[in-house]
Amino acid sequence: MNIRTKAVLAGTVKDSTYNSVITPIYLTSTFRFEKLGKNKGYDYTRSGNPTRTALEENIAALEGGTGAAATATGMAAITAIMLLCEAGDHIVTGNDIYGGTYRLFREVFAKRGLSFSFINMMNLKEIKKEICPKTKMIWIETPSNPLLHIVDLKAVIGLAKSQGILTVVDNTFLSPYFQRPFEFGADIVVHSTTKYLNGHSDVVGGVIVYNDKSIEEKIKLLVNAIGASEAPFDAWLVLRGIKTLPCRMEAHQHNAMKMAAFLEKHPRVKKVYYTGLKSHPQRALIKKQMKGFGGMLAFELDTSKTPLKSFFKKLKVLQLAESLGGVESLIEHPWTMSHASMGPEGLRASGITPETIRISVGIEGVDDLIEDLENAF
Ligand SMILES: *Cc1c(COP(=O)(O)O)cnc(C)c1O
Repeated sequence: MNIRTKAVLAGTVKDSTYNSVITPIYLTSTFRFEKLGKNKGYDYTRSGNPTRTALEENIAALEGGTGAAATATGMAAITAIMLLCEAGDHIVTGNDIYGGTYRLFREVFAKRGLSFSFINMMNLKEIKKEICPKTKMIWIETPSNPLLHIVDLKAVIGLAKSQGILTVVDNTFLSPYFQRPFEFGADIVVHSTTKYLNGHSDVVGGVIVYNDKSIEEKIKLLVNAIGASEAPFDAWLVLRGIKTLPCRMEAHQHNAMKMAAFLEKHPRVKKVYYTGLKSHPQRALIKKQMKGFGGMLAFELDTSKTPLKSFFKKLKVLQLAESLGGVESLIEHPWTMSHASMGPEGLRASGITPETIRISVGIEGVDDLIEDLENAF
């Protein structure tokens, strides 16, 4: 089935009592047993809930996985995945991964016996150099946030597979509409559904998608054991949002393309990062593994001519806020906002500067967005 059809229908036909077209929200913490030892497949909402199941089936269908576990936040999903590792295990990942993931790895898991190599994941040689007998997992985020560096999914996953190392891909930035990591052999795909999957900036959530029975069993046990599962109402909101994912992604991309072209020509802009630009240094790889370019872009502002504070102050349509992937355009300053938890050293290593500005391009009229930027410059 076409991904647009799956987005609308997969997993959603749940109500045989009244045949509601939309999946009901099962706001119940517990489920009645018909008799001792017999229920209708659900016993307690932390462990399972029909609304959450609908969402899980939907996202699994979009990603091409066998199943999924929806979690309370993206970080809850990432935490559950990391609990597949045990003390002594080593993880290879990027030096430009999402700030919250970086913080979780460094401040929580590194203090509990896991070790991490934060490296340039664009360089296969560097990955090979870091792999050791203790390496259990390679954590991939592509495109990276906010500079849109691309990790070669086929090459890195192939390398991991040849050595029995698990691969996890954070697919938040593109969504399954523009990139499907299972097609390259990934073991686990993770999302912050807070972003494009829900798409309306009104809920936080996460999801772990898998493609293998033994991983499924471990993930399901972990999510239930640590209590990371998503609330039914939140799951319903994400399910509602996903129905328009394909249309939204096309609209985000259309606007981002126009804004990137505008920025690239602007004298107050030193550099533009967007996967849809011909100037992106990894153009060939982008064409090979991505089905589109998405709605995220970043640029370097010439702050000697347009100071940061006045730039942000003059904006009227673009909203100064963290997060991304919603229908409204958000603009922010990674150095002091989304990526501040990396510290100056980590920031510099990842290529972010005090002049880097990130935009999550929304689906408003693109002329209004461009005019807003022009005024601010
Ligand atoms: C937002 C985000 C997360 C964390 O998700 P939350 O829902 O905020 O917990 C993880 N990875 C990426 C790439 C993100 O953008």
